[in-house]
Amino acid sequence: MSARPNVAPHNGKETVVIIGAGSTGLCTALNLALDTNPGSRKIAVFETLPNQFEATSGSCTGCLHHDFRGLDHEKLVELGKLSWNLWQKVAEGEKFRIDAGYKPNCFFDMEHGHGIGLGELPDWFRFKSSWNADRDQGPNALVNPKGIGDWLYSECYRLGVDMWFGATVTAVELSPSNEVKSVTYEKDGALMRLECQSLVVAAGPWTPTLYSKLFPASSIKLKSALNAGDWIIFRNPCPKTEKMVAFVALNNVLGKKLEFAGRHDNTIWMTGPVEDDAILPPLGEVAIPTKAKENMLVNYAREYLAQVCTSSGSPPSTLDVVSKGRAIRPATNTILPIISKVDAKDLLNSDVLFENSSGVFVSWGHGSYGLTLGMGTGKVMSELILGRKPSVDMSIFDISRDRAA
Ligand SMILES: Cc1cc2nc3c(=O)[nH]c(=O)nc-3n(C[C@H](O)[C@H](O)[C@H](O)COP(=O)(O)OP(=O)(O)OC[C@H]3O[C@@H](n4cnc5c(N)ncnc54)[C@H](O)[C@@H]3O)c2cc1C
Repeated sequence: MSARPNVAPHNGKETVVIIGAGSTGLCTALNLALDTNPGSRKIAVFETLPNQFEATSGSCTGCLHHDFRGLDHEKLVELGKLSWNLWQKVAEGEKFRIDAGYKPNCFFDMEHGHGIGLGELPDWFRFKSSWNADRDQGPNALVNPKGIGDWLYSECYRLGVDMWFGATVTAVELSPSNEVKSVTYEKDGALMRLECQSLVVAAGPWTPTLYSKLFPASSIKLKSALNAGDWIIFRNPCPKTEKMVAFVALNNVLGKKLEFAGRHDNTIWMTGPVEDDAILPPLGEVAIPTKAKENMLVNYAREYLAQVCTSSGSPPSTLDVVSKGRAIRPATNTILPIISKVDAKDLLNSDVLFENSSGVFVSWGHGSYGLTLGMGTGKVMSELILGRKPSVDMSIFDISRDRAA
């Protein structure tokens, strides 16, 4: 017989549960807390890992994009504009700028060329006369993603959001009319239950598997196209300067991109080619690159990181690796994320056509833009939960596109 969960104390307040403390989950918690009268609603975030931003969100490049170019990308423009404006608003605050290591307009694109524009590059990049550096005219901004996670955590905490770490949501209880009644979560070996009226599944790349585990009979089958990026962080061998926070993208190396991001904590983050058809690690496990991938990244770093800073004047023979990892992009089978309520009729394959809403929401699949689109996503998700008119047209993000035929 399976153990019965303990029931967590419930004080009668309306409760919203959010699964996942990445960019999507914490931005939702923050926007909901900002849109809620103090003390009137309980917002509880559950996260399997011991800290916020330990899965994909904390291991991304840290680019806040403004532009979405290309045919399909244009569908993201409206949400992107909302998100950009919200990030700009918080970037007016000094605490955010310091925590996040925020720097506007510091993106460079490198192409094979004749040495044009190299003088603007940060010191840590090894200038090569066979390249041109093209400063992106912006707007754009670079942050340290872990710093954004810290800032989101402290803002959510200040606004009274309950955040449970090392706590995995394992089951959902539904009412006879398919409304969410409670979640069961496992923490420190004990099963607990929390009553709630709304549930947001913001579980990053684990969302499709979690959704089908929580709602095995649902008519919604989430389609995913996972891909991964291996990354390494090096200590910056150069002295701190104004120019050290910068994003440098090399095009056409290996036919794909190499990306470097110099950060305010005097480290340099880099990633290599995208790996399609990546394998999702078990929930709670943080993946690392294979030795071959790691060596490839280190070799590229030796080629492109500054040699001017070594005493011998030659490329550094060893680079001080601070950390490494493999981040999985939560991606749908299109460029578009799903940011949507789930109708009660979609939770169970049933003959009864429930007209009511279920109180379940899904927010996932932001692919390469989950940090950039985080604030806008959090805002519209808060509006959906509160039953308000969303700030942008949500029809393209609706979950009904993944309804099984
Ligand atoms: C190499 C790389 C570089 C990138 N660079 C950028 C960039 O520069 N700019 C940008 O905008 N985007 C970038 N991205 C994309 C961005 O990182 C993602 O879109 C974003 O982090 C997704 O956030 P998330 O909150 O949806 O997922 P996650 O950050 O993965 O968060 C989901 C969380 O849910 C938790 N969880 C899952 N199931 C449960 C459960 N049952 N119970 C409790 N907790 C659970 C997980 O542990 C996890 O912490 C990059 C991605 C990669 C791979």
